[in-house]
Amino acid sequence: MTLHMTAIADMTVAPEPSRAAALACLSRVRPAAYARTRNHLEGAVTGLSPWLTHGVLTLPEVLAGVLARDPLAVQHKLVFELGWREYFRHVWAHLGNGILRSVHEGPLPEAAYARVLPSDIREARTGVPVIDQAVRELYRTGTLHNHARMWLASYVVHIRRVHWRAGADWLVAHLFDGDLASNHLSWQWVAGTGSHKPYLFNAENVARYAPEAWHSPGSAIDCSYAELDAMARGRAGKTVSSAADGVAGLAEPALLTEPPANLGVLAPEVQAAAAAVRDRTVWLVHPWALRAPPADLPADAVVIGVYPREHHHAWPWPAARWRWVDAAMREVCPQRWHIDAAALRKALAGAAAVRCTDDPHLPGAMTGIAHREAPPRLFAPVSRHCTSFSQWWTRVTRGVTQAGELL
Ligand SMILES: Cc1cc2nc3c(=O)[nH]c(=O)nc-3n(C[C@H](O)[C@H](O)[C@H](O)COP(=O)(O)OP(=O)(O)OC[C@H]3O[C@@H](n4cnc5c(N)ncnc54)[C@H](O)[C@@H]3O)c2cc1C
Repeated sequence: MTLHMTAIADMTVAPEPSRAAALACLSRVRPAAYARTRNHLEGAVTGLSPWLTHGVLTLPEVLAGVLARDPLAVQHKLVFELGWREYFRHVWAHLGNGILRSVHEGPLPEAAYARVLPSDIREARTGVPVIDQAVRELYRTGTLHNHARMWLASYVVHIRRVHWRAGADWLVAHLFDGDLASNHLSWQWVAGTGSHKPYLFNAENVARYAPEAWHSPGSAIDCSYAELDAMARGRAGKTVSSAADGVAGLAEPALLTEPPANLGVLAPEVQAAAAAVRDRTVWLVHPWALRAPPADLPADAVVIGVYPREHHHAWPWPAARWRWVDAAMREVCPQRWHIDAAALRKALAGAAAVRCTDDPHLPGAMTGIAHREAPPRLFAPVSRHCTSFSQWWTRVTRGVTQAGELL
């Protein structure tokens, strides 16, 4: 088999990782246009998710920034979509690592789905334009419009009959906004293992919302919803198999469990690190809270950026995402460590206090090393596990009319 791969890792054109760029992006949000056009690939979506995922901006800051120009009802589409991010966090808090398994059975038994994502999908050579365009866009920019994510996930699970987890693990690595709750639970929503029915789409739907290069007439998705439903439920005669070998494709960017060497992230020598923080307060910055430290830190506090080795070993990133995150981390702390929990515990044992912003991406092994402070949230906490977004939304907006009341 001869494949003509094109390497694109160096072509990545991501949004700038700085806080200034995030604030500039926030100043361009237009809620009315968002509500009208957000389903279109060229619609007025905010593009804020990489900064939100990595904590450069918080949801309350986003809402406050938008409300400074336009008062919004709490039921406005933009507030509702911000709610999805926090709802998925709510589910993660209740299910923990359970979000990585099917919440319930989908349209077919688990064993009906392949466990490996086929190479023609990874290499953007399925021959279905909407899918190949989506994968190209993903590798080129590190982001993808919500509708394109839904199409991609639906194609993987229901047309190619690949288990949602294989697709979710691949996508979360390549997205600059890759977030285990939003990503894996969205895949489950599409798969029908976290919702009551599979999400399906066809060529007509793509033609309505995407530019022409994405249109896919005559392809595997050019059929009726009844036919797609039969395929998803195993009632159609055949499933769609991979594209023919020999078709030119893209090389998937390599995934790295460690920061690229040229970033200057240290694996610190524990004794020297311990001496530098002895009897001082330490503030830990990590990839999910890339913000300036709180104002109440003592003047001689030490700020250290930490990449938890356990997490990155399990969830590697392409070099472009490492560069993006590290540029944002360097803005708030020049000193960055790539370190495992045991070494971090030793290095910080003599510090007067160790604090950080909590995030469920932090490995459990970090518990007890730092006092984990609650991150800023937009909606009131709901202690009872809500199994649907609408249950949760009803609770968090009860008695609220204007979005400003959330702040
Ligand atoms: C298969 C699949 C995988 C996804 N993986 C991720 C992921 O890893 N990380 C991630 O942040 N989002 C994920 N999403 C949700 C959504 O696609 C992105 O949040 C959105 O496309 C980001 O672009 P934006 O900032 O322009 O969003 P906008 O539409 O402008 O929305 C503003 C913000 O609201 C939040 N938001 C909007 N829609 C959703 C949603 N459906 N779910 C959760 N939050 C939402 C995001 O924080 C987003 O930045 C996924 C969706 C699907 C279908």
